[in-house]
Amino acid sequence: MLQLEHVNKIYGERHALNDINIAFPEHKTTVIVGPSGSGKSTLLRSLNLLERPESGLYHFDDLNIDFSKTVPEKEILQIRRQTGMVFQNFNLFPHLSVLRNVTEAPIHVLKQSPAAATSTAKGLLAQVGLAEKADQFPTALSGGQQQRVAIARALAMKPKYMFFDEPTSALDPELEAEVLRVLLKLAQEHNSMIVVTHNMEFARGVADQIIFLEDGEILYSGDPQTFFTEP
Ligand code: ADP
Ligand code: ADP
Repeated sequence: MLQLEHVNKIYGERHALNDINIAFPEHKTTVIVGPSGSGKSTLLRSLNLLERPESGLYHFDDLNIDFSKTVPEKEILQIRRQTGMVFQNFNLFPHLSVLRNVTEAPIHVLKQSPAAATSTAKGLLAQVGLAEKADQFPTALSGGQQQRVAIARALAMKPKYMFFDEPTSALDPELEAEVLRVLLKLAQEHNSMIVVTHNMEFARGVADQIIFLEDGEILYSGDPQTFFTEP
């Protein structure tokens, strides 16, 4: 379980996160929605410790972090290991093949053998529909294909939670659909996921829990049915 209590993040005058209290259950998909600038990305990046809030508590299983104190590097690494992040702009390694993009971190960070990492990577590439692209380089792929490689790469680290920060906002609609299908499948397989998206139809279809942010505050958190049927 992953949980935030009374979390505040301030940029200058701007209260980007204002007293955030929320839990992200395991094996469920939480979707974060809200207007541009409402704090969605800051919230996700705080969970990955890419941002450091000024105050509040963060619980990740047995790890308990007090943001008002210095966070030990060891705990940051532990949390990064267990949270796979997929960004808006794919961020693949351009000089590595698709297969090596997926095997790089398992080999060098998790110390898997190249044979084991390759076998896992091939399975993951098949899962995202890209088995035949393993030897290509990222520049030969469409944006949607690149994003699916990024998802396979994140999954290869076997993270406990998967975070997606507007994973389709750089894509044309037809390419967006193929990425959303992969996300929907991962959700149906009961992965633990947190997704920031502007696509309300997708949010409605995939979410177990919806969070609506505005001006750094949670105005709604709960089941999607209530959120989408309220007047
Ligand atoms: P969203 O993801 O919902 O668009 P963000 O989390 O990116 O919102 O931003 C929330 C608020 O914090 C915005 O007002 C934004 O301008 C501000 N903000 C985000 N990052 C920074 C930063 N590095 N420095 C200053 N202000 C920032
Ligand atoms: P920093 O932001 O402190 O420079 P890095 O971005 O290098 O740290 O790494 C952040 C975390 O991501 C580390 O905890 C590490 O476990 C993990 N990591 C390092 N290299 C990779 C990689 N190639 N792919 C995925 N995760 C990685």
